[in-house]
Amino acid sequence: MTRDALAVFKAEFGGPVLLPSDPSYADTRRIWNGMHLREPAVIARCTSTADVRAAVRFAVASGLPVTVRGGGHNVAGTAVADGAVMIDLSLMREVTVDRGERVAHAQGGCLLGDLDAATTPHGLACPAGVVSHTGLAGLTLGGGYGWLARKWGLTCDHLLSAEVVLADGSVVETETHPDLLWALRGGGGNFGVVTRFTLRLREVGPVHHWAGVYPLEDAGAALARYRWFAEQQSADLHAVGAMKVAGEQGWIPAALRGKPVLTLTSVWLGAPERGQAASAALFDAVRPAASVRRVMPYAELQALGDHGEPHGNRYFTKSCYLAELSADTIEGLVESCADIRSPLSAIDFEYLRGAIGDVPDGESAFPRRAAPYICTASAQWLDPGHDPENISWARATMSRLAEHAYGGAYVNYLQDEPDSRVRDVYGDDRYAKLAGIKQRYDPGNLFRENQNIPPRSNQPVPMSSK
Ligand code: FAD
Repeated sequence: MTRDALAVFKAEFGGPVLLPSDPSYADTRRIWNGMHLREPAVIARCTSTADVRAAVRFAVASGLPVTVRGGGHNVAGTAVADGAVMIDLSLMREVTVDRGERVAHAQGGCLLGDLDAATTPHGLACPAGVVSHTGLAGLTLGGGYGWLARKWGLTCDHLLSAEVVLADGSVVETETHPDLLWALRGGGGNFGVVTRFTLRLREVGPVHHWAGVYPLEDAGAALARYRWFAEQQSADLHAVGAMKVAGEQGWIPAALRGKPVLTLTSVWLGAPERGQAASAALFDAVRPAASVRRVMPYAELQALGDHGEPHGNRYFTKSCYLAELSADTIEGLVESCADIRSPLSAIDFEYLRGAIGDVPDGESAFPRRAAPYICTASAQWLDPGHDPENISWARATMSRLAEHAYGGAYVNYLQDEPDSRVRDVYGDDRYAKLAGIKQRYDPGNLFRENQNIPPRSNQPVPMSSK
């Protein structure tokens, strides 16, 4: 990067351009996972599509690698890399709603909370994740599971169109590039920088939320009940579980606080007055030690997970799809919970299916729609000295469950994986199609700081044809 090139770039760029010597550089490079404190060469804080174009062209001309930061939440820390140009979209968070068309237009740096804040006053929402400070961009491009997914499908299923800055600096609309839209619906950040997402919205009203906590000795029976309940529940219900150390919330019995426990949560999206009856079958057969239930606005549901996963802590995640919640699987979950190394860690799991699996398999890049369960060991801790034991715990949890895995994985939860894992995520045919689309839109693999799908011409030659 020459001083002249940098000066020209700064002159044409509308937002702040930060170098390591700038006072705000140290904070701006930080992302959600405190494990990834890296040193980009330049942080380009974009304020418009024109800025994104300029940043892409500057990076290419300077021969510097590129990272793209949406919400900065990816656990693998792909939004930031040493020596790279970070194309930072965190100043581009505008959302406009077309109530009549039931569509939202969201800029590429939006957080889920930005989208909900704009849509819920209209009684509308786009299905998305469960923590409001997660980035919309990374979540949508990788898929997007959440409370509404069983009823309406994934976030990527609601992506109607997008404005994208490509690796050559051109700007395209997906209306004229259907293959690009197909790839953006689950293929991750491989194909360009999305500056605008146009998303279909759904009607949402208040929801009935019911959570129960069980001591670990009751977890086996409660999980068997959960399996029965979840696998026959209507699409208006979404039930999730977590195994963790109980917190200090007022409704948790004093005897369980600080102890490993199971929590089950059932959310009913239908008429609120029917919520209690709809979820009762989960909680009545194996009674929790305590439970809490109430009707709440959808926006409040969307922020319930916020406090548990704050910015700056250390995180390490391992995740898989599970084919079943068998007695062996349950035993593995209970063992891992008993062995948990940090009071901030959790094993989260949920039964999926519903509308997720209703979308025809070929319609988007998102794979494994029929996966029954997803399970994620999320290690979270504070002290870098405790890295090894927490990372080992997450890995050991996945090893315990490996025999019951469905295959593949959710691309947005990948961390610390060999390259072959990305192929495994998509399966050979879908991966080959994505590599072909990558060849068309990013033949030089500029956008490679992600769960990378190299362009077709860069793919390793199969052994048989060598
Ligand atoms: P970033 O770290 O900003 O970016 C990750 C990658 O996405 C980048 O490397 C880039 O390749 C790509 N990218 C980002 N922005 C753009 C853009 N505008 N254009 C092109 N590429 C871009 N997932 C779910 O499905 N459901 C959940 O409920 C859920 N909950 C979560 C809760 C927490 C606390 C966390 C940390 C994650 C959660 N996730 C969930 C996973 C989440 O989907 C991923 O972490 C996702 O990558 C976050 O997107 P981001 O924009 O914040 O990521």
